[in-house]
Amino acid sequence: MRRGTPSEMTKSFADDRLDGAEARIRRFLEEQRPATPCLVIDLPTVRARFTAIRDALPGVGIYYAVKANPTPEVVEVLAAEGCRFDVASPNEIDLCLARGAAPEAISYSNPIKKAADIAYAFSRGVRLFVSDSEQDVRAVAEHAPGSSVMLRILVDSKGSTYPFGKKFGCSPEMATDLLRLAGELGLVPLGVAFHAGSQQLDPTGWDAAIADAAEVTAKLRAEGVELTTVNLGGGLPAGYLEQPPPLAEYAAAITAAVDRHFGPVRPEVMIEPGRAIVAEAGVIRSEVVLVSRKSYGDERRWVFLDIGRYGGLAETEGEAIAYPLRTNRDGGPTGPVVIAGPTCDADDVLYQHTCYELPLDLRAGDHVDLLSAGAYTASYSSVAFNGFPPLAAHCVR
Ligand SMILES: *Cc1c(COP(=O)(O)O)cnc(C)c1O
Repeated sequence: MRRGTPSEMTKSFADDRLDGAEARIRRFLEEQRPATPCLVIDLPTVRARFTAIRDALPGVGIYYAVKANPTPEVVEVLAAEGCRFDVASPNEIDLCLARGAAPEAISYSNPIKKAADIAYAFSRGVRLFVSDSEQDVRAVAEHAPGSSVMLRILVDSKGSTYPFGKKFGCSPEMATDLLRLAGELGLVPLGVAFHAGSQQLDPTGWDAAIADAAEVTAKLRAEGVELTTVNLGGGLPAGYLEQPPPLAEYAAAITAAVDRHFGPVRPEVMIEPGRAIVAEAGVIRSEVVLVSRKSYGDERRWVFLDIGRYGGLAETEGEAIAYPLRTNRDGGPTGPVVIAGPTCDADDVLYQHTCYELPLDLRAGDHVDLLSAGAYTASYSSVAFNGFPPLAAHCVR
């Protein structure tokens, strides 16, 4: 891993510079002076990230994982570009349809769903579902008859910052049986799906799962069941304090793995990026509530912001995601800090192990901007923990 220098911190993990985005967001913050904390999303960057991924993976169906940032304008911009959508609930279906997505452009990729939610999706025209259990396959067959179904397999998501563990997916052997069952129940067995873990920092992190998917496909082909598609899930990374390898390396590794494992019968490929489309489009503006020390000899100051773990920074848990920071006092001498949120919860500490330094003259009322904060922030913020309102989101065009 390369550690980003401060001047690199707002650069995309692809080659495109985000200077225009920085200028637009700064202008918005200066002119509108919105109440803090707030998330500002640069819509041209959302569009640019989508087109960069589309251009890097020609012919691949790109389904934006709505949970990463469900701001309606984000969905609208992506729908207008021809992006498709990975949803997990009736509300996300309604959001996508209301913002210009066609029902055929929606994949209900959550294997955990109520029968009533499957029926609702079907009533709105959704015909593509991801499953990982016999009960769910049977529920899809009953409440969304004739739909296409993909079976999610368990994968080893090492190399990712957020492995998915064992919650989703089943063994390839079980997936094979359930795809066969899906066909018997009148569904279209479309193929295998998986998720290689979020913020996957290894471009070859999809390889083993693609091999498993190809094996399931070959096994069923021998029985006369023709799977047409493979769904590579999410995991494409974003640049934070540390910069992942460039997008081109991911595209090359993924394309090579599909070619190698599937051979001459190339499947339709789907991918479901969330973070990689929206993270670098967002900046959170926060305000310093307090700067303090715990003892006279203590070198590290505590900086309390008006946003914390419950205000949208859930991904700081375990300090997994380290956002680049910028303040209105940058340029002068700095010193080490612990950074914490404003609530009365002892876990509401953002960074105490990651070595952040902030200006020595930082004080209450100053601004701290968290960069690359467009993914998994507003959608994670609590409704009113300790009376703090949920994170507001603003869009710039
Ligand atoms: C969350 C999720 C994604 C998006 O993951 P990222 O790591 O943000 O790209 C894609 N597919 C499914 C099924 C998901 O649950």
